[in-house]
Amino acid sequence: MKRRDFVTRIIVAGSALSMGVSCGRKIEGDQQETPTPLSDPTEPQRTITEPAREIPVIAETDVLVIGGGPAGVAAAIAASRAGAETYLVERYNHLGGLWTGGLVLPLLSTHAVDKQKRRKQVIHGLGGEMAQRLFDMGMAIHEVNPIIDPEAGKYVLDEMIVESGVKMLYHSWGVNAIMEGNTIKGVFIESKSGRQAVMAKVVIDCTGDGDVFHWAGESYETMNYHIGLVHRLGNIDRIDKNRPGYKEMPLGQPTPIPSVNWVNMHGLNDQDGIDMQNLSELQLQYRKEIWESVEEIKKVPGHENVFLLDTASQMGVRMSRIVEGEYKLTLEDSMTFKQFDDVIGISGAWTSMLYKGNKVLAYERPLWQIPYRSLLPKKTENLLVAGRCFCFEQALVEDTRIIGTCLITGHGAGAAAAIAANDRVTVREIDRQKLRKTLEEQNVWFG
Ligand SMILES: Cc1cc2nc3c(=O)[nH]c(=O)nc-3n(C[C@H](O)[C@H](O)[C@H](O)COP(=O)(O)OP(=O)(O)OC[C@H]3O[C@@H](n4cnc5c(N)ncnc54)[C@H](O)[C@@H]3O)c2cc1C
Repeated sequence: MKRRDFVTRIIVAGSALSMGVSCGRKIEGDQQETPTPLSDPTEPQRTITEPAREIPVIAETDVLVIGGGPAGVAAAIAASRAGAETYLVERYNHLGGLWTGGLVLPLLSTHAVDKQKRRKQVIHGLGGEMAQRLFDMGMAIHEVNPIIDPEAGKYVLDEMIVESGVKMLYHSWGVNAIMEGNTIKGVFIESKSGRQAVMAKVVIDCTGDGDVFHWAGESYETMNYHIGLVHRLGNIDRIDKNRPGYKEMPLGQPTPIPSVNWVNMHGLNDQDGIDMQNLSELQLQYRKEIWESVEEIKKVPGHENVFLLDTASQMGVRMSRIVEGEYKLTLEDSMTFKQFDDVIGISGAWTSMLYKGNKVLAYERPLWQIPYRSLLPKKTENLLVAGRCFCFEQALVEDTRIIGTCLITGHGAGAAAAIAANDRVTVREIDRQKLRKTLEEQNVWFG
């Protein structure tokens, strides 16, 4: 286990755009002790053999989605609406993943520029429907890249899952793939009910971290990146700017609830998001830093009533595994209007990018197509991958990991899985024209 230097932490003041830069208040967290590793990293790992046992099969279904983040919810609803019996497994007690439980509230990349240089809304389909329902409730602000309320988000996603007939399994971890040769046949899950199996014609990996394709023995890259922990502040509307000694503090960004701001955290770079001990250390450190930073804010005149409303229940892992798929989407593809005959949707842009030595500003960046082949792992049959771990080159990560893109890849994977199950073919064999037609019927925008 690698020991890290906890000398400084940067908490980024709210703005989604600030995810890529280090601005905002800087908290000196020096002289903090790194917790002792659970085992000595220089010693060989001790192992123990678990006895074989009979596992109850609790369902045999058409489509099984593991992970209920933006990608997983879109995948499950799309599959169910396309006529497939669908199960959705989520380890926590809410849907939305980092969008809600991670308190990452802006749905970014909703817009981009077309060939005629017109700025267009690109996220329609299920992502557009979710945003519209939240706007209608007064629980989303800003037409471009809307910021939502997380509890309203959880409520709306629950409603949509129930309405679409998806069978929801909360409080359940996917823990291993059930394989027959190169074909995935289902997933073992673990919960308070014990270890159980869900068998499926098609499985969709929406865990964000690629847990399922890892168990299936698929090839992948790993990407260590920034891990943060988002929090929210309350009583923002009770700040008294007339108090003697008042000075402006970095307090994040507004949310649909006027008294509440959300505060993003860039966090440490080069972090391993699938190392449990690393996550545990970061959790302890970040929560302490956030608590102490809010205590400091309260001491600044005018800010006495500000309080820490909550820290995110999901740790802010930005990247971990990236599957080796049939097609690796590139930055060049995203900058040059590359056309794919198996396009499943179009995503947008939220940040400026360096491309061939030139800075392309966020509001000038082109819309870009996502091909179905990027969701298809190279080896495993009847497995699809959607969300922040589908197949792309790392130079494109700031676009591919964004909620708008995850909703598009999830939607495409769900519709494809339903077609494969209904037509009794593998996900590699499905009729791509039929996929496009199904997605168009479900309001996905193709330009
Ligand atoms: C700090 C931070 C700030 C960000 N800011 C923004 C922003 O402003 N706007 C934006 O658009 N994007 C932002 N992002 C990126 C974006 O939030 C995520 O990349 C996106 O939510 C990924 O969606 P996903 O569905 O692929 O995965 P996730 O959102 O990670 O969802 C995965 C889901 O699967 C569940 N799961 C995982 N493993 C298992 C398992 N084995 N069994 C059962 N369930 C499992 C998880 O509990 C989770 O609910 C940010 C990310 C971070 C970390």
